[in-house]
Amino acid sequence: MINEIKISHRDIELIKAELEANKPYEACGVLVGIINGSTALVEKALPVTNTKRTRTSFELDPKEHYNAWNEAEKDGMEIVGVYHTHPVSSAVPSLWDRETMQNDTSVWLIAGADGMRAYVWENDVKAVKITEY
Ligand SMILES: [Zn+2]
Repeated sequence: MINEIKISHRDIELIKAELEANKPYEACGVLVGIINGSTALVEKALPVTNTKRTRTSFELDPKEHYNAWNEAEKDGMEIVGVYHTHPVSSAVPSLWDRETMQNDTSVWLIAGADGMRAYVWENDVKAVKITEY
């Protein structure tokens, strides 16, 4: 299982900017990269339209999500994670997040009002270490 996610300073800044730009709504996107053992290495964060556009939930625009998946595959990469923002709450999975995570094996990175944290689902929510490069 994944226990570490490596993400560039540039992508962390991009996600923080997305958090601010979409306030008070949640922003979301995908993390494209490769899995190396128990590490998810993010090559780039790609913002995706939040079709729900609410303060407490998100849904990746299906067409953009598909295109991102396709592009990643062309480059020999995959979607290793999903990010979304919690503009008015902490970076802890909501009840809705927890339910959705159970059908998704990738890393969930949440940028909350109190910073950034990452998780995977393995019988329960497990924390994943974020390493900035
Ligand atoms: Zn959430």
